[in-house]
Amino acid sequence: MKHSTVDMLASYIDALHPIIYINHFDSKVIDEAISRVGEFVKCVEFNNALGLIDFKTKSPVQECNLEQFLKLTMDDGFENETFLILKDIHEELSNPKVIALLKRIAENNLYKDNYNATIFIQSETIIIPRELENYITVFDIPLPTTSEILDIIHSFIADMDIVVEEDTINDIALSFKGLNEFQIKQILNLAYQDGGCIDKDDKLLILKEKEQFIKKAGMLEIVNFSETVDDIGGLENLKDWLHRKAHIFANLDKAIKFGVDVPKGIMIIGMPGCGKSLTAKATASLFEIPLVRLDVGRLLGKYVGESEQNMRRALKLSEAISPCVLWIDEIEKAFAGVSGDGGGNEVTTRLFGQFLTWMQEKENTVFIVATANDISKMPPEFLRKGRFDELFFVDLPNGEERRKILDIHLKKRHKWNKNIDSIALIKETEGFNGADLEAVVKDTIEKAFIDGDDSITTEKLIATVKDTKSISNTLKEKIESIKKTIQKIDIKPASRIDEH
Ligand code: ATP
Repeated sequence: MKHSTVDMLASYIDALHPIIYINHFDSKVIDEAISRVGEFVKCVEFNNALGLIDFKTKSPVQECNLEQFLKLTMDDGFENETFLILKDIHEELSNPKVIALLKRIAENNLYKDNYNATIFIQSETIIIPRELENYITVFDIPLPTTSEILDIIHSFIADMDIVVEEDTINDIALSFKGLNEFQIKQILNLAYQDGGCIDKDDKLLILKEKEQFIKKAGMLEIVNFSETVDDIGGLENLKDWLHRKAHIFANLDKAIKFGVDVPKGIMIIGMPGCGKSLTAKATASLFEIPLVRLDVGRLLGKYVGESEQNMRRALKLSEAISPCVLWIDEIEKAFAGVSGDGGGNEVTTRLFGQFLTWMQEKENTVFIVATANDISKMPPEFLRKGRFDELFFVDLPNGEERRKILDIHLKKRHKWNKNIDSIALIKETEGFNGADLEAVVKDTIEKAFIDGDDSITTEKLIATVKDTKSISNTLKEKIESIKKTIQKIDIKPASRIDEH
């Protein structure tokens, strides 16, 4: 158990926080922290199934329900300093009698000089009754810092009596970022059993294990993909920028030591079907880290405070698998109604604030890729420089970009040949987006197959182009409106302008 956790817990108790709500799954970790803080304190524990149990031995002492337990122990604080440790009792927190008893203990603790009892509630679900709001402090067990992770690894290596290079230790320590002590030890054990040593290859194992933690929690979605930066036609400015950040990610340890800031993320705004999602995937592939998607809609819950709790858990979870790319698709929809026009939805506004604060304060290796079409309703705070490292605008592809996109999709299907007249195609496809161009290639190839005619020619491609309604025709107004809003903000073009 880390000192920082114990110190923080102790300072909460000293500051007379009467009810400390510990949002954590692992009883063992919590018990260890409480026993450290309460070395000379009387500790009584309530177990949902067994009633009053001995905190140290966990053996049953007296069968009772929570209400009876509180009545039994509420005066203990007059005799000794007491910790009342209540595990997994969140369902009981709607019982008015339980609430009244907890309140009484909390008030005694605050106002009676000769009374000293602190209540600990440990649960993975946070439910805070309104009546107790002012007495409860939520305590998150801080995740180990890099130097604490290094300590854990070093002591593991010493215990196992193995030799591991310092470079490897530093490297895997960063991959462990965001996991708790228990999980780190578990993975170290696995890695050790796997090959009898710890080496750089174990980074893969760490990532796999992290994926397991995420799947179990179900708040984020791990996106599997095969796309790389080479699948993106054009967007050269954006790709150059990503290549530079990838260099930092690949050498994170050295970069941080050198004084480089950990990249925070990018916002990609622009026309539909022009490669924004593709870029999110390519980023993860370039950085060689997993891609996880945050769907804000999925976090919305029925009960008061539930959505905020889900958001907190999802963000913590993303930290748990960091380094990773956290992709928020259509962010304007995720936080719809947050704009300053007064029509905002209270819950989404709160979630949005929570997300902004997290972004502002974040010092982890979660790289955010936020993608959006229409930002006219986005709150300006979001677009301010400093939140993201950079904002990029993805426009409809210019001529050279259209050529590249067509080439990519033809080559992918092994149908590219040097006789295809790209100049003619560029002329005919003005106003097409990437998705339109992909459709042209697909449809032409499909038709050629059906007609039993193998060759793909410029004429055939142009014939399909003429049959295709491009985005510029179907979404004219939307495109105009996106262009207008973009002019008002400080944003970089994703494409290299001189390629027009
Ligand atoms: P939306 O705003 O509709 O979500 P998007 O900008 O995220 O669109 P993508 O999903 O990345 O668009 O693109 C759709 C498909 O179009 C991709 O799967 C890809 O095959 C093709 N495509 C789009 N842009 C490009 C590009 N620049 N290079 C190669 N293919 C592209």
